[in-house]
Amino acid sequence: MLAASASLLNVDVVILDVGENAPAKQVVAPRAPHLSHVDGAFTDPAKIRELAAKVDVLTVEIEHVDVAVLEEVEATVPMGVHPSPSTIRTIQDKFVQKEHLRAHGCPVSEFMSIESTVQSIHEAAAKLGLPLMLKSRTLAYDGRGNFVVRDLSQAEEAIAALGNRPLYAEKWVPFVKEIAVVVVRSVSGEVSSYPVVETVHKNNICHLVFAPLRSQDLSVPARARTVAEAAVTTLQGAGVFGVEMFLMKDGSVYLNEIAPRPHNSGHYTIEACETSQYENHLRAILSLPLGSTELKVPSAAMLNLIGASPHMEDITAFASFALTVPGASVHLYGKPDCRKGRKMGHVTVVAGSDAEVRARLRPLLEKLPGGSD
Ligand code: ADP
Ligand code: MG
Repeated sequence: MLAASASLLNVDVVILDVGENAPAKQVVAPRAPHLSHVDGAFTDPAKIRELAAKVDVLTVEIEHVDVAVLEEVEATVPMGVHPSPSTIRTIQDKFVQKEHLRAHGCPVSEFMSIESTVQSIHEAAAKLGLPLMLKSRTLAYDGRGNFVVRDLSQAEEAIAALGNRPLYAEKWVPFVKEIAVVVVRSVSGEVSSYPVVETVHKNNICHLVFAPLRSQDLSVPARARTVAEAAVTTLQGAGVFGVEMFLMKDGSVYLNEIAPRPHNSGHYTIEACETSQYENHLRAILSLPLGSTELKVPSAAMLNLIGASPHMEDITAFASFALTVPGASVHLYGKPDCRKGRKMGHVTVVAGSDAEVRARLRPLLEKLPGGSD
């Protein structure tokens, strides 16, 4: 999606990913031989150096990268690395990220460092209560890396499930809704934010996004945007950031986590906003004027297309059906294999009202591979 936006601006993109036919490489072909894509892992220092030698500006779409190498190449890439490697370092360890946010006065719920021992989990539960959310500090995504301890008898199971990874514990947040805001930050530090959206998760994976958030308390969107913008202001470097938050019954918001990149909760911006999160990411890292973040339709929803089985045909059949729904835009990611729990694509639905969006979404949810509840 970033590559598709770049091609409209005549910006050449060189991709580092495994395989000659990696999804992003299917979107843009190198225009000159010296711009050929790099075949390798985004954790491989030699490959990151090879990429850095080819480009004017380097950015990431995933935070699980080798930060030390990004720091090493930062001075050699003419327009730098965005967001800054120091930001990626802070964010990629969820415990360090939470400490950073708390130190800067951002509203985060209580959390504490723990050891991977039954005794340490008992101590955390005594302090933070049950249920207790255990999280892997690093390499977590789509809920892989979280374990909810509802009863202390589960402590051993939790350690086994999370493996021998560094962990920390968070107090359980009894939120009424999960919400998110995409924030864009320019090289000079100017920030602006997209509308607040409601995110609905299923099995810890983002399932649906509704834009804009509707809340009875009309002050919620402005407060959530202020919290999100303030949090991103504490970080260094340009680009878009996805800020995940919890909305509480009393209307207050807690920050959950920040992604230093275009975010799943912002996919709807492609069809529903004046400038997509991808185009604004490019504008930000290239020091071009930032685009308007306003909605250009009254209402939108985004439905993730998550693999339910190894059968790619289920995904393509669903995509064909989605093409019959007015206002629906289908995005398939070109991933080679379908797997249970893998994000294979998404569908964005826009309409003139919330009611119309819901009416258009209904047949899609009914036909969704793996069901919708
Ligand atoms: P990931 O990296 O997988 O996105 P998150 O830390 O965002 O991990 O957790 C995934 C989901 O787990 C969240 O979207 C939310 O639904 C739930 N969750 C995370 N932290 C808490 C918490 N402290 N209390 C209650 N639910 C939580
Ligand atoms: Mg998350």
